[in-house]
Amino acid sequence: MAIVIDGKAVAAELRDGICKEVAMLKEKSGKVPGLAVVLVGENPASQVYVRMKRKGCEEVGIASYQHLLHAETSQEALLSLINKLNASPDVNGILVQLPLPSHIDERAIINAIDPRKDVDGFHPVNVGKVVIGDEDCFYPCTPFGCQVLINRHVNDLKGKHLVIVGRSNIVGKPLANMMVQKNKMANCVVTVCHTAAQDIAYYTRQADVLVVAAGKQNTVRGNMVKEGAVVIDVGVNRIADPDDPSKTILVGDVNFDEVSKVASAITPVPGGVGPMTIAMLLSNTLKAFKLQNRRA
Ligand code: NAP
Repeated sequence: MAIVIDGKAVAAELRDGICKEVAMLKEKSGKVPGLAVVLVGENPASQVYVRMKRKGCEEVGIASYQHLLHAETSQEALLSLINKLNASPDVNGILVQLPLPSHIDERAIINAIDPRKDVDGFHPVNVGKVVIGDEDCFYPCTPFGCQVLINRHVNDLKGKHLVIVGRSNIVGKPLANMMVQKNKMANCVVTVCHTAAQDIAYYTRQADVLVVAAGKQNTVRGNMVKEGAVVIDVGVNRIADPDDPSKTILVGDVNFDEVSKVASAITPVPGGVGPMTIAMLLSNTLKAFKLQNRRA
């Protein structure tokens, strides 16, 4: 049976380290890192994520500035807020909760964020730095969390075959770019699968490390995984609870019961990658503070 990778525990350990560092910085400089979170509209899932981010900041002593804007906010008004946040010395990181309402051009908003404050790592400058291996950048939080978990469970990644299912700009592609780099946390041989692959099992069975970010329950079954592989399930799917159909539960993209019999380690859903995402956001905000104060 596979080891169940406890993302909650790893995230708590990271938050503890961040908390200590923030306290030290405060003592030394009288300043703490600040994160501005912008939410446009009332998407219930986004509201939950924004609350979790604020709570995460509070726990480690990072100042959080919430900007909750109504759904009809114009693109110009949002751009003007981004410009103010870019100029604010108290704000080290800016996060615009996605998705934005359809009348706003998401790319225009992301491009307007100062890359030095882009703690989500979605600005083209940071995307490009990840591709060329410039570590003076922000790694997108979910793939960064996956990388940390993988490194906790694989001693030497050099030459290991990492197979990623999913090529989104927020998970699959950045993870592939991070894990192919020639550094201690990566150096993998990377394969990326997507819906054009005729038989994803052909690829997933070759994986020493398998990351699944497809957004569909049961994308990976037990017979699609090599004995002893490390499996990271990024997927979050809400389904009816089989024990009580009036309720819903969260499941990943990997069939946990089947794959945990074959893998050497596997992340659960919930409690695997999810908690890591917020921990990495806090880590990026601390990094932004340090980079901005180093340059000042
Ligand atoms: P996305 O933008 O919908 O991308 C899904 C990717 O998976 C696409 O590239 C798609 O291929 C590929 N795909 C889907 N079904 C496939 C299949 N059967 N075989 C091969 N490839 C397949 O999703 P995302 O934003 O990356 O998110 C993926 C999942 O992770 C979602 O469940 C999301 O909720 C979850 N997520 C979790 C966190 C967290 O913090 N825990 C953060 C982000 C996302 P094509 O490109 O060909 O369409």
